[in-house]
Amino acid sequence: MKSTLSLAESMVAGIIICAICAVCIFGASGCQKSDTFAGFPTVEVRLEGEAIKTETPAIDVKGHIMIPRELIEETLGVSIQETRDSSTDPREISIDLSPLGEFRRQLASAQEQLSKYALQSASEGKVPIPSRPVKLNCPYVLLSLGVSPDCSFVDKFGKGGMLGGSMTYIYDNIPKHIDSVRGRDSILVYDVDHEVGFDILKKAPACMDQILPFTPEELSEYAPPYIWFRLDTWGRQRGIAVVGSSEDVQGDIAALANLVASGKVPIDRPVTPQVDTYAMAAEPLNPSTIPQQPTVVSSEHFEVVTHHSCVDDGPIMLTWAEETMDKLLTVFPDALETVPYVSISVTVPSGKLQYGTAFAHTASNPPKITFIAPSLAVKENPYYDKDWYIGNIAHEFMHCLYEKYSLAATGKSLSDRDVPMWFNEGVGEYARLTVLGESKFDAKQAEQYDPAIQKIIDEGLSSVDAYSGGAWALRYMNSEYGHDKIASLMKSKEFSFSDAMKKELGVTLTEFEEGLKEWLKKR
Ligand SMILES: [Zn+2]
Repeated sequence: MKSTLSLAESMVAGIIICAICAVCIFGASGCQKSDTFAGFPTVEVRLEGEAIKTETPAIDVKGHIMIPRELIEETLGVSIQETRDSSTDPREISIDLSPLGEFRRQLASAQEQLSKYALQSASEGKVPIPSRPVKLNCPYVLLSLGVSPDCSFVDKFGKGGMLGGSMTYIYDNIPKHIDSVRGRDSILVYDVDHEVGFDILKKAPACMDQILPFTPEELSEYAPPYIWFRLDTWGRQRGIAVVGSSEDVQGDIAALANLVASGKVPIDRPVTPQVDTYAMAAEPLNPSTIPQQPTVVSSEHFEVVTHHSCVDDGPIMLTWAEETMDKLLTVFPDALETVPYVSISVTVPSGKLQYGTAFAHTASNPPKITFIAPSLAVKENPYYDKDWYIGNIAHEFMHCLYEKYSLAATGKSLSDRDVPMWFNEGVGEYARLTVLGESKFDAKQAEQYDPAIQKIIDEGLSSVDAYSGGAWALRYMNSEYGHDKIASLMKSKEFSFSDAMKKELGVTLTEFEEGLKEWLKKR
C-alpha cells in the first residue's frame, strides 16, 4: 500500500475512500437496506453521514447485509486477518483502519493544493485543459458578412451545411434550414467589423435561439479574435468565432480553427489563441478597437457601403451601378420606378479569396445587394474585373426587380410561388447578357455554361444547375419569343408559373423545353 499521496495519485485516493466506505458496512452503522438491485439486496454507503455510493450490491446472510470480503481486500490491497471462522460470525472480523486516517488527511491536503492551483491559473488567465473539450465533426457553418466561404472551419472540420454571406442573409434563409442546423453542432464565424458590432444579433429570428445562445452584451465584453462554445438544451455544441479589427481576419479564423482542433477549447468560456494551439482566456475589450462605421457613398438610385478594407471600391462600384442601370433601362424601362433605390454592400475579406460571391436580399427595404469579392480597386484578381461586377449587379438587381413585379402582379413573394429556379436565375443571367453583350458574356461565362448544352439536350433542364439552365433557356426565350414576352412573363398575374407560360408564350413547360432542346442542337 502506498504511504504518500501526490496530485497524480488522486485516483488512488478515490479508491481508498471507497474502501473506507466499504469497511463501514461491517460496522453496520452506515448502510441502509434496499431491495431494488435485481433480486440482491443493495446498500447505500455513507461516509460521515453523507451518501457516497448508492445501490452497492451486497449479500444477505441470515439477515446480515454484507459486502464480500474480496471487495475490501481488492480495493485496499490488503489481506484481512481473520480471528475466527468467518462463516460462523462475520462481525468478529476486525481490521485496523488507523493507517487510512493518514491517507484521508493527505487527500484533504492534496485537494486544497488543487483548488489553490486552479485559482492561481484563473488569475493568470490560463485556461486549464477542460475535461471535455469542444470536438467538431462536420458542423453546420454559418458565415457573417466579411467571412469568405472558403473558411478554415470548413477545411478543418468539414461542413454539415453552410449558410451565410451576412447575418441578414442567414436570417432570411434560416427557416428553410433550421432542422438541419439543429440536428448537428454549429458554428457562426462572425466578423464584428463588417457587421458593425453585435446589434444585428438582436434581430435574429426566434428559431435561432438555440443556435446562437449568446447575447450582444456578453459578446461585446471580449476583444476579437476569440471563440466561445455553449451546449444547447440537447447537448449540441453551439459556437461563435468572433473576428475583426485585424489586418489578417483569415489568419485569425485559421488560428481559431486550429485551436478547436487542438482540443484546448472548453465549453462555456471565451478563449483566444496565443501561439497557435495555446488557449488563453479572451482579453477584455479595449474600447479603442470598437469597429469603425462603414463608409457610404450614394447617388439618386444607389448607395454603396464599404468597410475599411475596401473604401476605395465604393466610388467605383457606384459608377458601375449607374452604368449597369443605364443599360438595363433600355430593356426594362420601368426598372427604376419599380425598384427606385438599392443598397449595395461591398466586403473584401483579407487574405486570398478564391472566388467572389454576390447575392440579393430582395425582402429588405431598400433591397440589398451584397458582394463578397476580391478588391476591384487594388486589382487583386484579374477575373474579378469590371465585367464581373456589372454582370453581377445586373443579375442581382433582376432578383430585386422580379420580386417587386411578382408582388405587384400577384400579391405574392416569389418564394411563395412555384417559379422554377432556372427561370429565376435565368432572368438574372439574361440581364447579365444584356449589359455585357453577347461576346463579353460568352468570354466570361462560356467555360461555365457550355458544358450544359449537351446535358440539356440529353436529359433536360432539370439535369443542369439553375444558372446554366436558366442562361440557355432565357437566351432561347429571347430569340424565339422576344424580350417583351420575358417581361410579360415576369409581370404575369397568373399565380402559377406554368399558367403564366401558357398565357404569355402559348406553350406548356414541356413544349418549351422541347423547343429549347431543338434550338440548342442547332447552335
Ligand atoms: Zn441569382
